[in-house]
Amino acid sequence: MTYKTVTLKRGKEESLQRLHPWVFSGAIAAADDTIEEGDLVTVYAHDGTLIGNGHSQIGSIAVRMLTFDDTAIDEEFYSQRLNDAYKMRQSLGLQREDNNAFRLVHGEGDFLPGLVVDVYGPTAVMQAHSPGMHFARNIIAKGLTQLPSIRNVYYKSETTLPYKAHLDPVNDYIIGGMETDEALENGLRFHVDWLKGQKTGFFVDQRENRSLLEQYSHGRKVLNMFCYTGGFSVYALRGGAELVHSVDSSAKAVRLTDDNVALNFAPEDGRHQSFAEDAFKFLDNMEKDAYDLIILDPPAFAKHKSALRNALVGYRRLNAKALEKIAPGSILFTFSCSQAVNKEQFRLVVFSAAAQTRRKVRILHQLTQPADHPISIYHPEGEYLKGLVLYVE
Ligand code: SAH
Repeated sequence: MTYKTVTLKRGKEESLQRLHPWVFSGAIAAADDTIEEGDLVTVYAHDGTLIGNGHSQIGSIAVRMLTFDDTAIDEEFYSQRLNDAYKMRQSLGLQREDNNAFRLVHGEGDFLPGLVVDVYGPTAVMQAHSPGMHFARNIIAKGLTQLPSIRNVYYKSETTLPYKAHLDPVNDYIIGGMETDEALENGLRFHVDWLKGQKTGFFVDQRENRSLLEQYSHGRKVLNMFCYTGGFSVYALRGGAELVHSVDSSAKAVRLTDDNVALNFAPEDGRHQSFAEDAFKFLDNMEKDAYDLIILDPPAFAKHKSALRNALVGYRRLNAKALEKIAPGSILFTFSCSQAVNKEQFRLVVFSAAAQTRRKVRILHQLTQPADHPISIYHPEGEYLKGLVLYVE
């Protein structure tokens, strides 16, 4: 198979020889002038050595590598990578009677840069982050339905593809249709709204952290900030929390949370209440010592490196507000899902927030993304979720 070609500047092959999957535009010496966004290209080093095949793209990342040899990128290629991804999830034991929600494909972490697939029972929700994956969507969807128990594939890339590529993707089923919107996570039931919800409809990446929270919830007064679908709230209720308050600025998220609480607990339970409010305002107005377990799981404050400074200020303010008001002997679960903020930076802002309050704060756990969101060892940028569990005196 011959693809259009890209030749690198001298020395720019080094990171690729270490299997890092991105070619930056500044590394390119020459490229076929017929290359269009999303085309398959073969990348060569300056001396003509073949590096591998990838998807071209306009932007600072110019090629996302799919192979580091001359393997053709065809139906068989995708089917093989999807099978590998599936096999790995099987070894994690994520498809069980009491659990059918998991991430099947995590971009670079599954050697499929630009592709994300989350599975909810019989439905796979697929997101393309690169034009190349958009063009391959039909064969990818076919490959997905060849895996055990996946019957429907919903394509949801209206907000994930580069806007300038003018691909005008339409969110819709590629194969099958709506069977059920209910998914199971560790025995808890959730409505997942992939049609209108954020991302693929649910944040599967917090599964293990929600389980840990459940263990700390007994008898506590829990505040779940940025609740979205109410994942942490439902686990806290099962864990025996005395009360759970969920907050999200989106009225739709609050409704989703209420629905999910109702799906798992009897109407007379009465321990849960939700509030459609801004998190910062809620923290400002709440009484001191009202809660002894708080979860802060905000959206990514820094979507890009350029927003880093403001994001760090945002995380510090948020954590400081919670640390000021939380009761003595409390637990704080605090997260950042910004890829641009690294572990050390996040820990430093939480440290500054703690120092501002001068309370005794200890780190009990350092959390990250679960195994179905793997990090390719060649692509450390794939680590994005960071969390700390703090004990506050
Ligand atoms: N904790 C959730 C995921 C959070 S996603 C889970 O486990 O699934 C981030 C959520 O923050 C979104 O639902 C969004 O509506 C909400 N949000 C964004 N800005 C907010 C703000 N200023 N105040 C309250 N909620 C906010």
